[in-house]
Amino acid sequence: HPMTRILILSVGGTIGMVASARGYVPAPGLGERLRHALRGAGAAADALPAFDVLEQPPIDSADLRPTHWRAWAQALQAAWDDYDGFVLLHGTDTMAWSAAALAFMLRGQDKPVILTGAQVPLGVARSDALANVCAALTLAACADVREVAVCFGRHLWRGCRVRKVSAQRFDAFAAPNDEPLAELGIAVALHRQRLWRWSHGRRFAAPPFDDRAVAALALHPGLGAVAVRALTADARVRALLLHSYGAGNVPAQDRAFLDALADASARGVVVANVTQCWHGAVDPGAYATGSVLADAGVVPLADMTPEAAWAKLHVLLAGGADAATV
Ligand code: ASP
Repeated sequence: HPMTRILILSVGGTIGMVASARGYVPAPGLGERLRHALRGAGAAADALPAFDVLEQPPIDSADLRPTHWRAWAQALQAAWDDYDGFVLLHGTDTMAWSAAALAFMLRGQDKPVILTGAQVPLGVARSDALANVCAALTLAACADVREVAVCFGRHLWRGCRVRKVSAQRFDAFAAPNDEPLAELGIAVALHRQRLWRWSHGRRFAAPPFDDRAVAALALHPGLGAVAVRALTADARVRALLLHSYGAGNVPAQDRAFLDALADASARGVVVANVTQCWHGAVDPGAYATGSVLADAGVVPLADMTPEAAWAKLHVLLAGGADAATV
């Protein structure tokens, strides 16, 4: 529709970076460079919806902290009524965490929020920046998309299901336990039956995050109680996310390890469990090495991605939920 207007919130990432002696670094002014590149693209750009650009200080998303999420959620919420859809330009390294966090903060959203970025900076030969931005703008103008989604390469993925899977490929994201919401070929094939259709009204949040509130621990052979106790010794750590083996298993013969988990949950630390497997879910009770976790007060998180689980713990705790509610 000619009146459709999109807000692009630019927060950093390779898409806007420039070369330096130490490798790519963030640089300001992506909005202007983007308009210039789109003008150069000529007729193709005419088919895109109109947009404004709001630039936050650009970061390499490896420098992301949960406190950034609050500022970005506040910026989106303040502009919500003035635009038909939103694009967030973000680095790929931690895009999955931010997509999930925004999905959990924009509950009941009635407009699209599309995250994208690039593997090669705008203006560098063979950059994927312009193609990704054009696709994201197109999808942000689709009123049927009422969720946070990641548009990258050839796919649109649900924001709370996506993971970065490649540091090299243009199709850098995938959702191991989900199907794409759209396939981007010559045409944009939106799988409308897969889109989120229910809205119970906006229940937006932009809570005050504590960057240290959630710690994560990836299991490996030989990991012991020392690691659990070291992480949970920080009084600001209010949740510990285990990345366990397979169907949610841990070393059940290591009594000290299980005691450290039980002690943490008895002190009010939410101890939760996702699988470190690429595909599948935590299946409590499938193995005795998983059943022991129930006795230690550990919460199984089914097939959530580690990124979504971590972000959801942060959003819930920042929103004031106590351990029992979480
Ligand atoms: N390090 C970059 C970032 O996440 C990578 C990228 O954007 O592709 O900001």
